[in-house]
Amino acid sequence: MSPLVAGALGVVLGVLITVLVVTLLRARQQAAVAAEPPPLLPPQLRTVVEHLRGAAAIFGPHDELLAQSQSAASSGVVRGSRVVHPEVLELVREARRDEEPEALNIDVPTGLGLPARRLAVRVAPLGDGLVLLVADDRSEALRVDETRRDFVANITHELKTPIGAISLLAEAITESSDDPAAVRHFAGRMTTETARLNELISQIIALSRLQSTDPLLAAVPIEVDAVIDELFDQARAQAENRRVTLAHQRSSEAVIRGDRRHIEAALRNLIQNAIAYSDAGARVAVTTRMTHDATGDWVEIAVSDNGIGIAEADQPRVFERFFRVDYGRSRANGGTGLGLSIVKHIASAHGGTVTLWSRLGQGSTFTLRLPAHLPDHHAEGTAA
Ligand code: ADP
Repeated sequence: MSPLVAGALGVVLGVLITVLVVTLLRARQQAAVAAEPPPLLPPQLRTVVEHLRGAAAIFGPHDELLAQSQSAASSGVVRGSRVVHPEVLELVREARRDEEPEALNIDVPTGLGLPARRLAVRVAPLGDGLVLLVADDRSEALRVDETRRDFVANITHELKTPIGAISLLAEAITESSDDPAAVRHFAGRMTTETARLNELISQIIALSRLQSTDPLLAAVPIEVDAVIDELFDQARAQAENRRVTLAHQRSSEAVIRGDRRHIEAALRNLIQNAIAYSDAGARVAVTTRMTHDATGDWVEIAVSDNGIGIAEADQPRVFERFFRVDYGRSRANGGTGLGLSIVKHIASAHGGTVTLWSRLGQGSTFTLRLPAHLPDHHAEGTAA
């Protein structure tokens, strides 16, 4: 073979080998591209889920977590990359299998002795084995519903008592129409029951008004000691009647901001209770003082009595609506069982608290703690 032919053959062979290698490399590259799976979760969907305020998550074909909102983990439904509860996991699989949305309510234990949280879980298939899960915490709504149901049931019961009494007294009056003394007696009792009914209705209206208005919208500075002086003037007759003495230990600068009528109502309730639940010869003292801690400046108003006191077991319950330690004594004092729940509501609406110290047979101290209105904020003058 001539060197020329051999050279030409070599060039042709080189070109062939290069073409072959390039073709092979391309084919392998294409094969590699074809084998790479498409992204399972479209990025837009991930962004949507991650920005949802409620608890939401998307699971892949093998129940693996692909995306979740911030509150999904704290909801207790998802932990790490998995569904926590077997029932919820089953729901996710059912939705994937049947290609149908599903829903379930579950109670998630919260630990620390707190009541379980009720979650409404909904799942929906998104295709390609993906499943969307959304969980709503229904605990607060359920609690509000339950409180409302209890309240309505209690009101019905409480209203029935004086109405039943009035109806019986009316019958008694009819039957004793020829006995003027008996008529006067029954009519007097009827007046008492009517007053009770009236008080109950006013308290119910006060409570519902309190729940629908924010007292701080119409807040004015209030000199607490001036309010107490006025309330003592109003309570003097009740106190003298029961031979209870009243004492007021004042602070020079106790000023708060709030709705004056609400503050008066709260303090009136505490003072009237202190007098009503004390025996003859008792002493009721109201002390105001300024305090300061890391959370700010406070005015503390302590209403103390050395009356009958409240057993430890009953103490957490006295702020509940309609709760009375001694129903008979409360009724005899014209009580409705709503007073302390109103006090508690007023305290929290003003950014404060009401606490109780008591010992059976020794007496009680109810302390209303409200944010102080400091002198340098006194632009509008006071409403004392
Ligand atoms: P009531 O209208 O019955 O007084 P409250 O809500 O004001 O209702 O109080 C609830 C219950 O708490 C009262 O029935 C009473 O048993 C108890 N209580 C309230 N204040 C005192 C007090 N100062 N001393 C003892 N018991 C009290």
